[in-house]
Amino acid sequence: MPAAKIRAKARDLGFTAVGIAPADPLEGAQFYARWLALGYAGEMHYLARHHDKRIAPAQLVPGAQSAICLAMDYYQPEPTEPTPLHGQIATYARGDDYHDLIKKRLAELWTYILTLAPEATGRYFVDTAPVLERELARRAGLGWWGKNTCLIDKRKGSYFFLAEIITDLKLPCDEPAPDHCGTCTRCLDACPTDAFPEPYVLDATRCISYLNIELKTSIPKDLRQGMGNWIFGCDICQQVCPWNRKAELATEPGYKTRPGLDNPSLLDLIELDRESFNALFRHNPAKRPKRRGFLRNVAVALGNSGAKAAVPALVKALDDEEPLIRGHVAWALGQLGGVNAREALEQRLAIEEDAEVKAELAEALDLL
Ligand code: SF4
Repeated sequence: MPAAKIRAKARDLGFTAVGIAPADPLEGAQFYARWLALGYAGEMHYLARHHDKRIAPAQLVPGAQSAICLAMDYYQPEPTEPTPLHGQIATYARGDDYHDLIKKRLAELWTYILTLAPEATGRYFVDTAPVLERELARRAGLGWWGKNTCLIDKRKGSYFFLAEIITDLKLPCDEPAPDHCGTCTRCLDACPTDAFPEPYVLDATRCISYLNIELKTSIPKDLRQGMGNWIFGCDICQQVCPWNRKAELATEPGYKTRPGLDNPSLLDLIELDRESFNALFRHNPAKRPKRRGFLRNVAVALGNSGAKAAVPALVKALDDEEPLIRGHVAWALGQLGGVNAREALEQRLAIEEDAEVKAELAEALDLL
């Protein structure tokens, strides 16, 4: 029975849940098209590409019959309570990059499937192709699509990665999981940037994870305070979800929180040069926004810290070579205030050449 053997092998490889869905066109596609049309994808223009492939797995794998959907837990112990001068990194990003790790396991699983069915064709994916993976996983019974738009498994919450193998092998399928959100609205109420215009719909342009990872430019000023001390990603809508009380710690050693990424010191991070940034985030997801985006996030967190002790480090960073960082550092100094902050902002304004940074400096001075 190939399906039972495939499930067993997947579990041996560290996947914590396995479900199989028919590879028919996806009914969630209409919802997705509406979401794009409303502009909720922001600058993630790649999400609008290859719509035909996204809605029909057979466009990715000719003759596709089944999608083997896989989950891998990543939950880690909650960090110690941060002080105002410490930042927070989303749980999934405190260890090794999951793409590399999961891709290797998928390759092993696919090789195994070929030993059972040498004539099979298929492809495996982990964020590497236009696949509506949450919709496929929902259909495969791995969980329901929560009001916070995460896939939730009744037995263990939502702290898991998704991956899938689409194949022309016809396998017995699982039943979709029913919705268990009920009347709960905790995630909607807890979001500090009001990123849910309605239940089950995320306006990514207001989501902290979008702002501090995907957005490559200046963070809208009206959303900066809501970002608190999240410097890469955000877990708030998962932390408040009652189903995550059942989350179990991941056993995969690669996802273990790296030293220094559990509530890292914002004062250390704002001083990272290119070399030390690359060394700290080698093979780690938090390198995605690059140094310029990451230090922009750190500056916002320092501005939100309320800690005057951050002023000297920010004054130094006001001379950073990267305008995006200087602009957000100016904002942070405006938030913290004080004589030293004012002096530094005035001095920088006298020599600043970048128009956007000049505007940030002037606005910060106006605040003081
Ligand atoms: Fe659903 Fe409540 Fe969890 Fe939000 S917090 S996803 S409403 S159960």
